[in-house]
Amino acid sequence: MGDYASPGCRLILTAVISTEIFPPRVIDPDLAEAGRRLFARDARFVAGASETSTLPGDALPEIAFAGRSNVGKSSLLNALTGRRTLARISNTPGRTRQINFFDLGGRIMLVDLPGYGYAEAPKTEIRRWTALLRGYLRTRTTLRRVCLLIDSRHGIKEIDRLLMRMLDDSGVSFQVVLTKTDKAGAGELARVAELTVAELAAHAAAHPEIHLTSAVKRHGIAALRATLGSLALADRAPSAVVLPAPAQ
Ligand code: GDP
Repeated sequence: MGDYASPGCRLILTAVISTEIFPPRVIDPDLAEAGRRLFARDARFVAGASETSTLPGDALPEIAFAGRSNVGKSSLLNALTGRRTLARISNTPGRTRQINFFDLGGRIMLVDLPGYGYAEAPKTEIRRWTALLRGYLRTRTTLRRVCLLIDSRHGIKEIDRLLMRMLDDSGVSFQVVLTKTDKAGAGELARVAELTVAELAAHAAAHPEIHLTSAVKRHGIAALRATLGSLALADRAPSAVVLPAPAQ
C-alpha cells in the first residue's frame, strides 16, 4: 500500500501518512483512538424496515452503508465492529431486503442498506427498493454520511451512478469505500482509486477522499473507524454548563 509514496520516503512516511485513504493524508492519532473506542462498543440490532412507514425514530446520528450485493458490505461491517452478529442479522432471510439499524454503544446508528444490482431481481422488487431508499434518504435528518462501497477491482458501475445521483438529489453526504483491496493488484488499485476520485469531483454530495479497505486482511479498517468516529464526535452535544450554586 505504499504505492503512493516514493520509495525513498516510504519508511518515514508510513508512520504518519495513511495510504489507506486516497489521496493519502495524515490521520490524527487522537481521532484514530476515538474511532477505535467507538467501534469497540457493543452493537445491538434495533430495527429492520421494509417500508418508509416502518422506519424507526431517528434518535442517534446515522452512518449508512450501501453497495451492490456481494460488494463485501457484511464483511466490512463485521470488520469495523469486530463481531459477526451484524452481518448474520442482515443476512437472515427476510432481512436482506430491508434497512437494518444497529445501535453502536448508544452513540451512533449503523444502517445497513439492502444490497442492489441483483441481475435476477424482479422489476417490482427494484421499484420497492428504490422507493424505500429514496424515502429514507429524503426524510432522515440524522443521516450524517452514506458509505458507498465499491469493489476495488471493478470501480464505479452504472447502477452505483444511479445511487450517486439519488444521493446528490437528496443532498446526503457520501463517501466511497473501496472493498477487497487484497484481491486487486497494486497498479490496478491505484488506477481505480484515481478514476474514482476524479469521477466523484463531479458529484455535489461526494466526499473528496476515498477509503481503501480489505475486510479479509483488515486493511484500512482503523482509518475508516477514525473517519466515522470523527462524525460521531462532531455530533456530541457540548458539555453541560455548570451553574454556580445559588447564594444562601
Ligand atoms: P455483501 O453481499 O455485500 O454483504 O458481501 P459479503 O460481505 O457477504 O461478501 C461477499 C463475498 O466477498 C464473500 O465471499 C466474502 O468472503 C468476500 N469478501 C468480502 N470482503 C472481502 C475482502 O476484503 N477480501 C476478499 N478477498 N474477499 C472478501
